[in-house]
Amino acid sequence: MSTVPASWLDEIPARLAEIERAHLLRRRRVVQPAGGARLLVDGQPMLAFCSNDYLGLAGHPALAEAAREATRSFGVGSGGSPLVSGHSAANAALEQELAAFVQLPRALYFYAGYATNTGIIPALVGDGDALFSDALNHACLIDGARLSRASIHRYPHADLAALEAALAASTARRKLVVSDAVFSMDGDLIDIPALLALCERFDALLLLDDAHGFGVLGPQGRGSLAQAGLTGVAASRRVLYMATLGKAAGVAGAFVAGDDALVEWLLQKTRTYIFATAAPPLLASALRTSLSLIEAADDLRQHLAARIAQLRAGLARLPPALGWQLLPSDTAVQALVIGSNEAALAVMESLREQGLWVPAIRPPTVPAGTARLRIALSAAHTAEDVDQLLQALHRHAALALPVPAAA
Ligand SMILES: *Cc1c(COP(=O)(O)O)cnc(C)c1O
Repeated sequence: MSTVPASWLDEIPARLAEIERAHLLRRRRVVQPAGGARLLVDGQPMLAFCSNDYLGLAGHPALAEAAREATRSFGVGSGGSPLVSGHSAANAALEQELAAFVQLPRALYFYAGYATNTGIIPALVGDGDALFSDALNHACLIDGARLSRASIHRYPHADLAALEAALAASTARRKLVVSDAVFSMDGDLIDIPALLALCERFDALLLLDDAHGFGVLGPQGRGSLAQAGLTGVAASRRVLYMATLGKAAGVAGAFVAGDDALVEWLLQKTRTYIFATAAPPLLASALRTSLSLIEAADDLRQHLAARIAQLRAGLARLPPALGWQLLPSDTAVQALVIGSNEAALAVMESLREQGLWVPAIRPPTVPAGTARLRIALSAAHTAEDVDQLLQALHRHAALALPVPAAA
């Protein structure tokens, strides 16, 4: 008589159908590079504004050659975890070069940014400790916080007065503040000196995730901490600087850098580091080449800055009656808030029909009512590419607006 399925596994198809009915089923697109910022997406040529390859280095021939060359001497796999036999000469050299590049005492190289944050946070704080987290932090900082079992204080985005109050009220001996440097869905940069000053005052450690600033911000692309003047002789032992290597660096992986003793602690205690196979040496070799390209890439960073300015100027000319809002951002991540899910999807679809791929980001990734286009610019975009996007948006806007009533 009962309609309850025998096993919970029998419920999976119905649960999938539920997600589909709510229009929340996610689909992967099969992509192939097609030159510059262009991709073949499910076989269709598209101009893409959704890649985190901010300097356009992912397809650089020098990186491919470094990987090929490393494969000849190291083979392909690392064969073990870093604390056993996986710490290859290429990975060791990369760590030295990463530390020098970001002007901090020591660096630890990981196979992924997600695993870095979910691993290092539980290595730093635990039961009885306190963790303070910006409301718009990346998912892997949130997951790392949960795994740590520390008590979590979530403060409103960039609200340093709220953070100050929470730090002042905390009686925990160990306090950790975690924050994106550049927020991934808004593109805004946190006030790093003010954040660090609070950490100094309340004896807290700051974990700064610079996934979207490394390679792009600061002198020679050394990142947001260098841009704030807080590296080299001005480095503070209170900052753990973390960045990913699959975005502007164009390869894969991540690293954390900071005080020697702290980094040694992470090496001893981070489970996602200790119990995982080390990244393949061919990636470390490609990354060593990438670091030297990034250092010399002022021309690419200038070109990117010009595309950002071009896009913002063009978006500012959209009719205000649309009610769209361009969030403040000087970075490659530009968020155009449309509002409702339906409206954001309609804009995305209209762009797609014109051969442009710009993702609509909806809740729960962003707060309800702030569905948006997340436009990611890259040094691979030409001025003509950005013009094409602006023209398509202006065309959509002209059709979306009601015709003004005759006077
Ligand atoms: C992409 C990203 C990560 C994850 O890095 P992966 O190397 O892709 O695992 C972590 N933090 C932020 C802010 C990111 O944008």
